[in-house]
Amino acid sequence: MWRWALATPLRRRDLLRGSLQTHHPTPQRPPWAVEEPLFLRLCDRCDRCLEVCPSRLLVRGEGGYPQVDYQQGACDFCDKCRQACRPGALSMTQTQPWQRSPHIAQTCLPLRGVACQSCRDACEPMAIRFPPVLGGIARPQVERDRCNGCGACVAPCPVAALSMITTRSDAQPSVTSLTDEVAPCTL
Ligand code: SF4
Ligand code: SF4
Ligand code: SF4
Repeated sequence: MWRWALATPLRRRDLLRGSLQTHHPTPQRPPWAVEEPLFLRLCDRCDRCLEVCPSRLLVRGEGGYPQVDYQQGACDFCDKCRQACRPGALSMTQTQPWQRSPHIAQTCLPLRGVACQSCRDACEPMAIRFPPVLGGIARPQVERDRCNGCGACVAPCPVAALSMITTRSDAQPSVTSLTDEVAPCTL
């Protein structure tokens, strides 16, 4: 759990150095996926994880390997995909289903002076806050302590400003401010 209480600006140079996040050179795999090289060796592209997922966020990606599409839905961590995976490409040896949280790009409406809180409304764990701004538009802040990486905030964004990124647990602040320039990220 993160102990830092103060909001910490997310700076472009931090992102480019990779000190806060790891951009995905590969697609985002289903929860409990083993490391990518092993995943590609173990996964037999059987589609069983896609078929059992009640949230329908798992889709067939490049080469027939499963990947996550948060525009389709959010993960509720029901564990059905992992149980369906016979080769062990999704494995309980992973202590957490994944370490992901939303990245919010500069296209975010409040950052452009337009009020919007759709992402907060979609977030059951209440991990997205909008601290009031005197005479201004409140901007989103992600509380990573609360975020479980479900991805429910992604699809409701009217300008597709949110994308899920893998986060390094040993290097990030508990609260990310979005007031500074941030690097774009794609799934
Ligand atoms: S844990 Fe459940 S909801 Fe999440 S991807 Fe797997 S089957 Fe779908
Ligand atoms: S159930 Fe396992 S082996 Fe089958 S496609 Fe999904 S990850 Fe790959
Ligand atoms: S990924 Fe889920 S828990 Fe995290 S901020 Fe988005 S909706 Fe909230």
